[in-house]
Amino acid sequence: MIYKRSSALFAEAQKVIPGGVNSPVRAFKAVGGDPIFVKKASGAYLYDEDDNRLIDYINSWGPMILGHAFPPVVNAVIEKTKQGTSFGMPTEIETTIAQLAVSMVPNIDKIRFVNSGTEACMSAVRLARGFTGKDKIIKFAGCYHGHSDSFLIQAGSGAVTFGSPNSPGVTQGTAKDTLLANYNDLDNVKELIASNKGEIACIIIEPVAGNMGCIPPVEGFLEGLRTLCDEHDILLVFDEVMTGFRLAKGGVQELLGVAADIVTFGKVIGGGLPVGAFAARKEIMDYLAPVGPVYQAGTLSGNPLAMAAGLAMLTELNDNPEIFSSLTAKTEYLHQGMHQALVDHGVVHTINRIGSMISVHFAEGKVIDFASAAEGNNDTFKKFFHGMLAEGIYIAPSAFESWFITDALSYKDLDETIAAVQKVAKTL
Ligand code: PMP
Repeated sequence: MIYKRSSALFAEAQKVIPGGVNSPVRAFKAVGGDPIFVKKASGAYLYDEDDNRLIDYINSWGPMILGHAFPPVVNAVIEKTKQGTSFGMPTEIETTIAQLAVSMVPNIDKIRFVNSGTEACMSAVRLARGFTGKDKIIKFAGCYHGHSDSFLIQAGSGAVTFGSPNSPGVTQGTAKDTLLANYNDLDNVKELIASNKGEIACIIIEPVAGNMGCIPPVEGFLEGLRTLCDEHDILLVFDEVMTGFRLAKGGVQELLGVAADIVTFGKVIGGGLPVGAFAARKEIMDYLAPVGPVYQAGTLSGNPLAMAAGLAMLTELNDNPEIFSSLTAKTEYLHQGMHQALVDHGVVHTINRIGSMISVHFAEGKVIDFASAAEGNNDTFKKFFHGMLAEGIYIAPSAFESWFITDALSYKDLDETIAAVQKVAKTL
């Protein structure tokens, strides 16, 4: 494949945008080479500026669960745009999507919309601190909750890829209130709670991790966190920015049957427009301004275009819940095919999968936390990434990312992907 125009555009971009990108992982720093510039996308495919067609396994890092340019979403946005693009005043559609979201997700009475997953998690933690009157939070190594200061402490995703888990600019004062635990390690959490008795406002977690590759919780882990939170008056915050409306209508809470106190959303809930949200039961949410004392606001929050896209997306998922089993079946098919191809060529690997999230770790043994994910062979991953790209398959340009399966992928696309893995595996 030729990427001449993408490379030229990247050279231009670097002159006026730091690193040529508006979000670091896009820059291919972890895998080398120039990033690909997208011209358009439709269904399961991306079309780049050199007119290559790529089968997309990133899907805007999750939101495009029904494929790119999904007609009901596109039409909803076009129609809404004609009526004005932002008012900074209440609109009916905000209540409509809030009602729908509250009906789909367990354990929430009220929801507030923001503009990104970062904002959602940042606001959720402020709310947890305000509500409990405590300062410290527990987060897990390798989990990413956006780029707000409290979370850039051994975060996953790009923060790992770039080798700067503790970013300059995050003050010591902020960092001291973020306690770090190992994913899937309940004893570690117990120790932290014991040594910070009465000081912890919340535990925030990706209940299925996607930012150190895909890592599901081991049996009993989330249940154990729930019990600890109940015992110690700590709020349990599920960051469902990736998993919400993807792994089930009601996200991980529904899929694995564990209740959270506060849930954060992003990605799917905006149908591809910039949206995030956080939600909880009434008494917690009513701690927010203008009812309660915890301040949180946004000029573009509840933006009508974003609400229209999100409403179209959630309506589709709510009306057609069979989509979730269809997504799972496709992901399982891909899993089996890729596993066989890698086994055939003796490539050491572990594939983690749950619902429509999957990732290939080039590691031996189980990958259950950040340490085991980091043991993966990054040189093999780089070769794999570029090999797949040459075959027209676009996976995330970092080993520390989950792949997202979309319903627009046909079994023919999956077979094409598996055939590419067969070919690339020979070279690893
Ligand atoms: N939480 C999780 C679990 C995420 O995966 C992300 C982004 N990938 C975020 C929060 C931050 O979302 P955003 O990039 O929209 O700020």
